[in-house]
Parts: sequence; structure tokens; C-alpha cells
Amino acid sequence: MDLPEVDSKFRVVIIVGTRPEAIKLFPIILEMKESKFLEPFVINTGQHRDLVQPVFDMAGITPDVDLHAGDSPNTLNQIVAKVLDRADSIIEKESRGNNWFPTAAVIVHGDTSTAMAGALTAIQEKRPVVHVEAGLRTGNALSPFPEELNRQIISRIAALHLAPTVTNLNNLVSEQIPADRILVTGNTGIDALMWTARLEPEYADPRVAEVVKSDADVIVMTAHRREHWGGGLARIAQAVREVAEEKPEIQVIFPMHPNPKVREQVEPILQEVPNVILTEPMEYAEFAHLLGRAKIAITDSGGIQEEAPSLGTPVLVTREETERHEGVEAGTLLLVGTETDSIRDAALLLLNDPVAYQTMAARPNPYGDGFASRRIIAALESIAFGESAPTAFGPSFSRNAVLEASGFDDAPRTPYEEQRLAMGTDVSAVTYTGPERRQSQ
Ligand code: UDP
Repeated sequence: MDLPEVDSKFRVVIIVGTRPEAIKLFPIILEMKESKFLEPFVINTGQHRDLVQPVFDMAGITPDVDLHAGDSPNTLNQIVAKVLDRADSIIEKESRGNNWFPTAAVIVHGDTSTAMAGALTAIQEKRPVVHVEAGLRTGNALSPFPEELNRQIISRIAALHLAPTVTNLNNLVSEQIPADRILVTGNTGIDALMWTARLEPEYADPRVAEVVKSDADVIVMTAHRREHWGGGLARIAQAVREVAEEKPEIQVIFPMHPNPKVREQVEPILQEVPNVILTEPMEYAEFAHLLGRAKIAITDSGGIQEEAPSLGTPVLVTREETERHEGVEAGTLLLVGTETDSIRDAALLLLNDPVAYQTMAARPNPYGDGFASRRIIAALESIAFGESAPTAFGPSFSRNAVLEASGFDDAPRTPYEEQRLAMGTDVSAVTYTGPERRQSQ
């Protein structure tokens, strides 16, 4: 393996292997390239090379090392074993005192096998692990699988936990992770989306290009999760087929995951439906623009649940559980499970009822403000070099959380609010004279 020359900056190893990691880590890599103190050293594990490469090409990033962990068909254990073996030889050099590779920290993202194996490798070499997108939980070890376990394992290993939201921070604190090792940053996926919004993508599939140009209502769908391989994928596809048949004027676009196990279940159900386009995975810029153009998204993806609300696109989440509770609470996501009837009925309601539609589409995005990566680089500089610490994203105080903890969770109003309304008094105007109030609850 060719390794670059060392210079005066501290290297931060960033481990990437899958598409969501590439999308959510490229804004951090770009931001780190601007740092006076830190320099990214990007390891591509190669878990899903075909999906990662276009994202890096778009962002102008060339990985420093490729581990080729996904080159042949692989089980999860084989991928983990290859990453442990091959990443170790890179990180090991430095920890054995070889001065040409001073690694200040190792960044992993989220919940993939790449991330879990990367974190384990780093800690065996006593490198501090920084976990981006920390604290997401369903609480069910088998759903999503193996992601929920991966993220729990990484949380045991990491020195610094970068939580997208306050809910994620609370999840970590409830697992005895000290709050002073957690920074709430917002999700870097929103940074990526905003960066990408400036681009004007050309659609590789001319059928998609034509639909995007038309004024047809579009449903964009994705489905690939492992826990749906045993029947869930077919039920989701059947629901979409029934919606497409009931509403022939809409267009469904389904960029299919390359995994043959996904394709063999959905193609027989959807390929003959005239207003359904089955297409190849799209480049991120194409997909991001399509998501903004769509009327609704039907997906089991994690990242899309965060992105769509920034674009005003309601999401039907085809999963039994989600770790994106903020979006469900904010009303931008609706958890519809994997039963055909419930997915079909929810989609038809949104297509037929403008009030139900607007109620979902008009919610603000709880996942980020587009500055997560800046906060992350500022946090690393602050820790390593004593630079000033960044302020967190979002409120640490939640009125709803306090009310819930006080036993008012079922009541639409507190007794005090009722009393205030009955008296016709605007309490807020008379009791507070500090700076302007926050709008968020
Ligand atoms: N995405 C993409 N092309 C596609 C479908 C999705 O670039 O054809 C992007 C999408 O915008 C999101 C990410 O891929 O950022 C989601 O990846 P995936 O569903 O594979 O993983 P998850 O988010 O569930 O971990």
C-alpha cells in the first residue's frame, strides 16, 4: 500500500465503506481539509465500493488507502475480519512508534460493519475513536440488523460521541455514557444535502429525466434492509404496486439496491407496472434532487428519513421500528410497518387528502441546520489544541420532555395553560424580560 508523506498537521483517520458513510462523512473531510491543525487520512474499506466511489468523485475526494474488504461476495463476518486485519496494519505502524503516521484520532460513522470493525481496530491500537452519528437507538438488537448492535458496540468504544440530536444524547446518557463526552452537532447528512443542492445533476436514466421534467406527482421509493429479506420486501413492493394501479397518473421511481437478494424479490412484483420505473442506484446528487421533486417518499432507509424533511417531502417509513424518533414526533415521518395494507392506505391518504399531506409536508427538520461538520471540526480542534468549543445544535431543554417527566404527557394542555387561557392573560409577556425567546419547543 502506498502511504503519503507526513507533514506538520495531525492526521485524523476517517474510515468509510458504504454509501451513507461516504455521504455523511464527505462534508467532514472537506471541512477538515480547511483546518489549520488537522488533516484527513481517508481509508475506504471497500465494503460497497461501487456506491461510495461516485460520492467521493462528486466531492473531489480521493481515499488515501483502499482495503478491498468487499471485493468478492462476503459475509458480514468476512468483511469485519478483513477490515480488522487490513486497517490494523495501517494504524499499527504509528502506535509502534513509527513517526511517519501520527494519528490523532480515528473517526467512524454510524452503524455499519465497516464502522464497528474500524472502531475495534482503532481501540486495539489505543487510538481515540470519534463516533459521528452517535446515540441512535431502536432498543431492539435485531432491528435494524446488524446496525443496532454495531452502534451499541461503537458507543462502548468511542472517546467522543457526536450525537445528531438531543434525543440521541439522552439515549447515550441513559447507557451511562458521560454527558461531558457527548456533543450535539446536528446530522452531517443535512450538510451534505445543502452542499449538493448547488449542483445541477443530469439523470443517467432517460426515463427518470423525463419524469423529473414533467409535472406528474412522483413517489420515490427505496427498500433494501436485511431484516426485510424474509418477506417484508415483497409486501412493500405489493403495496406500491396497488398504489400505482389505483393512481395511474402518478409515477413511482425505485432506484434498486444492487444486492441481488433485494432485486429478486421486488422485480417480479413491480416490473410490469406501467407507471413504475425500476432503475439503478442513482448518484447522490441525482437522488437528492429527485427526493426534493417527489411528493412522497416510501423507504426503509435511515438517511432518507433525515433528508426528506429538509426538502419538504413526507416520508412513509416501511419499518417496524425507527431510531429517528424526532422525525416521528415532529410529524415529518410516519411509521407504517411492512404490511401491504397499512403502507398502501397511508400512501393513498397522503395522495388523496391535501390537509393530511400539508400536515406532514410543512414541518421543520429536527435533524440539522447544515453546520454539523463545522461543529465537529471545531470540537476536535478544541479538544486537541484548546481552541474554543462550538455551541451545540438544537435545544438541550425540551418543554415536552419536562411535561412528560411531570406526568402531563396525555393532556393537550397543562392545567396552568388552561387557567391562563380562561383568564385571558398573556403570561409570557409579563413574566419575562430577557433576550428573545426561542421558537422551538
Ligand atoms: N441514495 C443515493 N442514491 C440512491 C438512493 C439513495 O445516493 O439511489 C442516498 C440517500 O440520499 C441517502 C443514502 O443514500 O443519503 C441512504 O443510503 P441507504 O439507504 O443505503 O442507507 P441508510 O441511510 O439506510 O443507512
